[in-house]
Amino acid sequence: MNSAMKTLDKPLSPGGMVGIVGGGQLGRMLALAAARLGLKSCIYNDTVDAPAFQVTPNAIVAPYDDLEQLGTFADLCDVVTFEFENLPAHAIAHLAQHVPVHPGAHALAMTQDRLTEKSFVEKLGLKTAPFFEVSSPAQAREAFGKLHGKGILKTRRFGYDGKGQAKVMSAEQAEQAFAAFKGAPAILEGFVDFSCEASVVAARGAGGQFAAYDPPENDHENHILRRSTVPSRLNEAQVDEAKAIARAIGDALAYVGVFAVELFVGGNGELLVNEIAPRVHNTGHWTIEACQCSQFEQHIRAVAGWPLGDPARHADAVMENIIGAEVHAWDSLAKSGALHLYGKAEARPGRKMGHLTRLKPLTKP
Ligand code: AMP
Repeated sequence: MNSAMKTLDKPLSPGGMVGIVGGGQLGRMLALAAARLGLKSCIYNDTVDAPAFQVTPNAIVAPYDDLEQLGTFADLCDVVTFEFENLPAHAIAHLAQHVPVHPGAHALAMTQDRLTEKSFVEKLGLKTAPFFEVSSPAQAREAFGKLHGKGILKTRRFGYDGKGQAKVMSAEQAEQAFAAFKGAPAILEGFVDFSCEASVVAARGAGGQFAAYDPPENDHENHILRRSTVPSRLNEAQVDEAKAIARAIGDALAYVGVFAVELFVGGNGELLVNEIAPRVHNTGHWTIEACQCSQFEQHIRAVAGWPLGDPARHADAVMENIIGAEVHAWDSLAKSGALHLYGKAEARPGRKMGHLTRLKPLTKP
C-alpha cells in the first residue's frame, strides 16, 4: 500500500474513484448514483455474489478485516464510504489512515452500540425510550422493575431487522431473554406505544452544509420495513422538529454523508429517537423518483465534497419493499410503479429482493 495519506481538499473531479465497502442493494444504488455523476466506484465485499458487483467492474472480494486487501482498496480509491454498519470499526479506522473515509470511524463506532448511541442522543437533550444497561441476569430483573410492565431487550451490537430483540412482559422473561442472548451485552428499553414510526434521512457536508428529506411514515411487518409513505401524518411542527433532531445529531458527530434517524411518534405527539443509521437507508428509497436529488446521489455528493443537492420533494410517494418470494410477481409489479430489483439470485424468506415506488401528485409540500 502507498504509505502517503490521500486528502480530499477540493471536490473529487469526475473520473475519480469512490470506494464503497459493502456490496448489497445500498452499495449497488450508490454505485449507480456515482456513475450518473461521472464518478467511478469500486466495491469491497466479503462474498462474490454481491448485487453491487453487477453494476461496476471494480471489485475486491475479501474479508472485511483483511488489512492487506483493505490497503489495496485504499490505493485504488480517492474517497471511501460504506453501506452497512456491522463492519469492524478498526477496519474503517485502518482505511482512514490512507484515504479519506466518510462517514468516519467515530460515527460508525458510536452507532454500532445501542448503549453508546442512546446515551449520546440523551446527552444532546433529545428524547428516547427509557433504557437501561443489562450485562447480567440480575441487571435484567432490576431494569425491568424500572419500566411500566413492558419492555424490549436488545443486544447492544449487531442487531438488525428485529434480530437480537425480545419483547418482555415480566422480570422473569427479561432474565430468560438475556440468557437466550448467551451473555451478549444488552439494553432493556421501555416499550413505546407509538402512534406511528417515522424517519428522517438527511445529509451533512464536510463544511457543515445540511439537507434533510421529508420524513416518511414507516410500516413494519415481522420487523422488516414493509412501506414508507410521504407525506407522513406528522404535522408541520413535527416535520421541522424531526429535521432539527437530525441536524443536531449530524453536527454533534461532525458527520459527512447521508444518515437516517428512526423515530417513534408517541401518542402525545412527541418524537423519540429509536436508532441512527450511518448510511443511506431503506426508508429513503422513494427519493430516487420523488426528489431532484436522491439519497444515493446526495451521499455521493457529500462524501466527494460536492455541493449538496436539492432534497425537495416534487411528488407524494409510497415505497414498498419486495420481500422473498414476492419478487416472482415482478412482471405484474413492473406495471404498477417504478420497479427496482437488486439482482439477488435466491429469494429467501425475509430477504429484500427489490422495491417498488408509486408516485402521486404532490398534496402537501
Ligand atoms: P430497532 O431494531 O431498534 O430499529 O427495532 C425494530 C422495530 O422494533 C422498530 O422499528 C419498532 O417497530 C420495534 N421497536 C423497537 N424498539 C421499540 C420500543 N422501545 N417500543 C416499541 N417498539 C419498538
